[in-house]
Amino acid sequence: MFTNIQQMDDMVRKHDQYRAKCLNLIASENYSSNSVRNHLTSDFSNRYGCYPTANPESREYRGNKYIHEFEMETQKLVGEVFGAEYVDLRPIGGHIAGIATVLGLLAPGELVYEISLKDWGHGLVTLMREVPHFRQTIRLDWIPFDEDRQVDMTQLEAMIVEQKPKMIILGGSGMLWAEPIAELRAIADREGIILAYDASHVTGLIAGGVFPNPLRLGADVMFGSTHKSFPGPQGGFIATNDYDIYKKVGNTVGSALVTSHHLNRLPALAVSMLEMKKHGPQYGEQIIKNSKALGQAMQEVGFKVVGARKGFSDTHLILVDVSEFGSGLKISKLLEEATILCSDDFGQLDKELRIGTAEITRRGMKEKEMKTIAKLFARVIIANEDTQQVAREVEALTQGFLGCEFTL
Ligand SMILES: *Cc1c(COP(=O)(O)O)cnc(C)c1O
Repeated sequence: MFTNIQQMDDMVRKHDQYRAKCLNLIASENYSSNSVRNHLTSDFSNRYGCYPTANPESREYRGNKYIHEFEMETQKLVGEVFGAEYVDLRPIGGHIAGIATVLGLLAPGELVYEISLKDWGHGLVTLMREVPHFRQTIRLDWIPFDEDRQVDMTQLEAMIVEQKPKMIILGGSGMLWAEPIAELRAIADREGIILAYDASHVTGLIAGGVFPNPLRLGADVMFGSTHKSFPGPQGGFIATNDYDIYKKVGNTVGSALVTSHHLNRLPALAVSMLEMKKHGPQYGEQIIKNSKALGQAMQEVGFKVVGARKGFSDTHLILVDVSEFGSGLKISKLLEEATILCSDDFGQLDKELRIGTAEITRRGMKEKEMKTIAKLFARVIIANEDTQQVAREVEALTQGFLGCEFTL
């Protein structure tokens, strides 16, 4: 148990030193700039700016003059970046933003489709249905994928015609390609389906204009995280151009899910939005170049990379099938011993690694470093080299990339 502040500071410092040595390829993390970090510690973190509906004018506490102004200005900034007229910044993460979307827009008993966990979905509704109440009120089925990890439109359309879902949630946690939103829009119009997009992973790529903006292609509502490919503070958002959806989802956020919305996120989020307005395109382009280069390099050193024949990836991550070398979970832990951090498939098929390029791109790595990284993977997984030896070389690599690019 802690007894003084020194002990706490020491542990946080140890964490910082440890993570500075690690090669972080976790696709759901990122490295935020000093400016974003410094903007997390204002007096906003001690204040209540809550409102029980979608309407920020309905704040319940006094003393919110500048908090209100700040939130409205930040909403405008986020709305501009994502091409959305209405924005809600209260969700404290992508998951709760998704829950608000589902609960706000579905009536009890209606059917929703999402990406299954085994296809690298986040499992938003799957997890909600662990709660007995939601198991009884939300029906769920899964979006079919083909072997290249693209949505299988033929099969999906047949399912839609037969089952009549009320909502389809696209966007996953291991996505390699953009989904066919425009095609689905036509079907959704015909069948009366709400198209929701979970942008948690690709928010930064959308902000940079290097991944198709789902709202522009016809999604009714987009929600997500602000800390994965988007290098902001941890948090969530909901964005839409449909006032009725904004109202229903916002009323759900305010009434059922969030009262204190962690206002200290807002200045940091506003800073990161400006960073992305200025540097988003170059940042996003380099991320995708790095993903493709890493996919190619991983293949060259002897790994089976998913989607190889389609160019490995159009996003901030690649998927590598390591089943010929053992369990994904065990391999990701072995890599961790060598201070290489990436994700296994969280207990699903236990065969793939998800390797992300957003943070290393933020830190300044380019195609050349992707070749080095692929060799480090091969030494741990294929050559079974001593992980401590590899860790020393990982440190030699990461020490050259301790900065933060694409800042103001
Ligand atoms: C990470 C993730 C979430 C959850 O977001 P949090 O910000 O962790 O709450 C939701 N959906 C998808 C697709 C994700 O990858």
